[in-house]
Amino acid sequence: MTSSKKNLRAVLTLNFIFLTISIFGQTAEIDRSHLKIQEQTDQIFDSLVNLRRDLHMYPEVSGNEQRTSIKIIEYLTALGLEVKTNIGGYGVVGILKGAKPGKKIAWRADMDAMPSKATDVVDFKSKNEGVRHICGHDVHTTVALGIANVLTHQKEDLEGTVYFVFQPSEENIKGALAMMDDGLFDIIEPEEMYAMHVTPFPAGTIATKPEEMFSDYKQLNLTFQKALDNETLIAFAKIK
Ligand SMILES: [Zn+2]
Repeated sequence: MTSSKKNLRAVLTLNFIFLTISIFGQTAEIDRSHLKIQEQTDQIFDSLVNLRRDLHMYPEVSGNEQRTSIKIIEYLTALGLEVKTNIGGYGVVGILKGAKPGKKIAWRADMDAMPSKATDVVDFKSKNEGVRHICGHDVHTTVALGIANVLTHQKEDLEGTVYFVFQPSEENIKGALAMMDDGLFDIIEPEEMYAMHVTPFPAGTIATKPEEMFSDYKQLNLTFQKALDNETLIAFAKIK
């Protein structure tokens, strides 16, 4: 497995363990759900790598994310999710309703690329002259679609509703406000909202720095426990 594949797997796994805590309730159930999550993740992993490479080859700058949004809409629709489109530009929302009652949680991913003439070092180079996914939003979009896929396959055990929010125009800092101005929170009513940003560290590494990393944040306490396979670590997160 190449290091970029390993990194994508690490990102997917880390996101699932956080989401597992929120969506599947108690400890024993979390362990069982984790194994099912791992199985489905393994099944779709190669297709996600291909999808991410496709997005990487056709990057679109802020406000121009038309092709990317079509890819997202097609994927979510094929999963059978309720899909809302053209929110604050090319923003997309997918709504997954679990079979059991529970919280309403949103997972947000950004979609846009950046103007860049830097050399593309990967085999699946950008085909859009002067535009590159150098901020990793191709990975963010793919991870969100992967989570949507895996959780859709666990719909019967899923407690509550998961909203998948694909936000355009992150790089020019306009997309989040544009989605809200366009009625995002009339369409969805999340009690909690999660997102992540990739960064080029080796797979398996958890990194932090002194003082703040983002403009707004909450502190998390993480406890690690071995899963049933005796290898995978499950992280239990508690917001302070
Ligand atoms: Zn970014």
